[in-house]
Amino acid sequence: MKAVIFEQFGKPPRVQSVADPTPAATGVVIKVEATGLCRSDWHGWMGHDADIVLPHVPGHELAGTIQAMGKHVTRWRLGQRVTVPFVGGCGHCFECNSGNHQVCENQFQPGFTAWGSFAEYVAVEFADTNLVALPDALDFATAASLGCRFVTSFRAIVDQAKVKPGEWVAVHGCGGVGLSAIMIATAMGANVVAIDLTEEKLAFARELGAIATINARETQDVVGAMREITKGGAHVSIDALGHPSTCFNSIANLRRRGRHVQVGLMLGDHAQPPVPMDKIIAHELEIYGSHGMQAFRYNALMDMLATGKLLPQKLIGKEITLDDAPAALMAMDRFEGTGINVITKF
Ligand SMILES: [Zn+2]
Ligand SMILES: [Zn+2]
Repeated sequence: MKAVIFEQFGKPPRVQSVADPTPAATGVVIKVEATGLCRSDWHGWMGHDADIVLPHVPGHELAGTIQAMGKHVTRWRLGQRVTVPFVGGCGHCFECNSGNHQVCENQFQPGFTAWGSFAEYVAVEFADTNLVALPDALDFATAASLGCRFVTSFRAIVDQAKVKPGEWVAVHGCGGVGLSAIMIATAMGANVVAIDLTEEKLAFARELGAIATINARETQDVVGAMREITKGGAHVSIDALGHPSTCFNSIANLRRRGRHVQVGLMLGDHAQPPVPMDKIIAHELEIYGSHGMQAFRYNALMDMLATGKLLPQKLIGKEITLDDAPAALMAMDRFEGTGINVITKF
């Protein structure tokens, strides 16, 4: 099969012919029909992810059809259209048994713990626990765009922060994660305030439902501006970027008893940012993480897609080819438009 592969961290990946994958006993091989590009792929390529063993094929936001199945897979059949969350649970550990596959102790992550989906085929482990059937009406590119930022934002807003109608929700950073969070929080009936450094992204945030925006390049005191807009602070605040300053602001701009959800990844030097612990105590703030979403929770999401309450296809930028992927991957730290690139030709 054709695959995008790199042999050294930070050195240009190449499209090469490699051996076709075979399914594990509890796994499947998926013929990839669409796979999204993500900053996590860039971090993996740079050597920031300890799970990656070289040589490596990136890609974790995928959708396709089942091409081959291991002998212990019972819930699926060949040819079914499917996607997977980027964190797959083993189905057997304590966390999986408690319904929390997103923090599984033996998790499978395509493109990190194994070769990923920048290829014609990808092997996925623990299929019975993690595959998600796609409704006929959902196209592959949109389905691929769900698996990472969109489901993580859905879990952050719906399952972790439990946003209620009428609450003020601050979203710090309007990349793919932030724009997803804005769309989802708006659909839940919240009043969203979006914060970013670029006017282009803030305009898109307003288009997706943000009722107010703060340009952090022009506003020195983001926390003060948020207090003023929300008359006291946000009920819920999301750091969708993953940076010490957005993390700090996201906690500091909460009203009393507010909830912060960290969705943007904190890697390398940013792994342990300063937080206003004095305020967390005095105001009884709640701090959550969001790390993917269980496959069984896709039901709620799929129903909101089918009824048009959520339109993740609005977040797709360009459809590109597998041959375009190496250059697009290497450019991910330099160029960040308002849309996600999705590989749809292999
Ligand atoms: Zn598990
Ligand atoms: Zn991703």
